[in-house]
Amino acid sequence: MSYPQTVIAKFGGTSVADYDAMNRSADVVLSDENVRVVVLSASAGITNLLVALAGGLEATERFVKLDAIRKIQYDIVERLANPQIIREEVERLLENITTLAEAASLATSTALTDELVSHGELMSTLLFVEILRERNVDAQWFDIRKIMRTNDRFGRAEPDVATLTELASQQLAPRLEQSLVITQGFIGSESKGRTTTLGRGGSDYTAALLGEALHASRVDIWTDVPGIYTTDPRMVPAAKRIDKIAFEEAAEMATFGAKVLHPATLLPAVRCGIPVFVGSSKDPKAGGTLVCNHTDNPPLFRALAVRRKQTLVTLHSMSMLHSHGFLAEVFNILAQHNVSVDLVTTSEVSVALTLDTTGSTSTSDSLLTTSLLTELSSLCRVEVEENLALVAIIGNQLSKACGVGKEVFGVLEPFNIRMICYGASSYNLCFLVPGDDAEKVVQKLHHNLFE
Ligand code: ADP
Ligand code: ASP
Ligand code: MG
Repeated sequence: MSYPQTVIAKFGGTSVADYDAMNRSADVVLSDENVRVVVLSASAGITNLLVALAGGLEATERFVKLDAIRKIQYDIVERLANPQIIREEVERLLENITTLAEAASLATSTALTDELVSHGELMSTLLFVEILRERNVDAQWFDIRKIMRTNDRFGRAEPDVATLTELASQQLAPRLEQSLVITQGFIGSESKGRTTTLGRGGSDYTAALLGEALHASRVDIWTDVPGIYTTDPRMVPAAKRIDKIAFEEAAEMATFGAKVLHPATLLPAVRCGIPVFVGSSKDPKAGGTLVCNHTDNPPLFRALAVRRKQTLVTLHSMSMLHSHGFLAEVFNILAQHNVSVDLVTTSEVSVALTLDTTGSTSTSDSLLTTSLLTELSSLCRVEVEENLALVAIIGNQLSKACGVGKEVFGVLEPFNIRMICYGASSYNLCFLVPGDDAEKVVQKLHHNLFE
């Protein structure tokens, strides 16, 4: 069944942070009758608190975090006209959290982490339904885990799109006829029914996946900024909003760290050509950015993005000289450890690479495990540099234009540029700088290229 007019609206953590924010988001939902599915993140701060609990805390610290969670949610409950209606249900979820956090203090596991952090989205959706009901809106709570089937890579699970599409048409689509559906972003379940998560910031991805599964006409991402800017407006106040941007450009921005969209968000949108709108739930009238198939006259330089906490691994081996198979062996080892490579540069006897941290996991584990390092070290000399930042310039036909190098690097003379990747994609030019320089580099580049 297809719903050509269905709009999926997703609200991030700040848009459901407290009672007033939830009401502003409810106003946004009610202002567009085509919004049939609402996808929510946990209230701001809750996921971080749950991740900390999942790491295993001793009793005193655990109670501090549990109290903080309780306070954020009860501040909303107590402002409802009839709080008693959902107090019991909220209490049950808080009790679950307490029990799971105690279990994590004895032994942590990635499956336990996902079960624990899923409670953030379970609570925010419950509260939001009640806020709508108090406004006499017919809204139903839907557990997304019934349809968001994923693999069992806890913390960064991959959705099974075919199964999601089938389950959505059986279990979700018929509900859209009855009332507004309020559901959770970020969480899913694997084949045995255990809860999984799609990686931090994954609610955007959930909304886009539902858009694809329900053949929606648009996916709206409501956040705390009125659109996608030429760079993070928190870092560069002079950043300008981009009113319309092509899927490919926005996808590059998201991949290279523009936090406003989860890196995978545009995959489903591109697959089925569904436009994605990004706006601010605090100021919906301010407009926003439309991400769509095509834009007229795309500029050479579109945006800047930065990804922090990058690790550069340099592998040196004399046996690489005039021989073959070395790189294949390196990539093989990385693949066996489920690590995908992000950037690569090579010379005669060495290869430098960064590890792909996009869609970072809900846990804080490092990709560079001891066993991976040991295995690489048996092959060659390994050097590891941490705390670098990857700065990406997103643009169009960059590798075909003249003078790009001068324009970009001319102003970066005072900085140590650690690695440069240019040419593989005509949409980006990226390089590594020491983490502490990232902000200054982005500000300087933005001034030169966009102001
Ligand atoms: P939400 O909780 O709604 O998902 P996020 O914090 O994940 O919100 O994303 C919104 C934030 O993304 C903004 O507050 C902004 O600081 C940051 N951001 C990074 N890059 C950009 C960009 N190019 N345009 C707009 N916002 C950006
Ligand atoms: N609540 C989750 C997080 O903080 C998912 C999301 O907000 O998109 O990462
Ligand atoms: Mg987000």
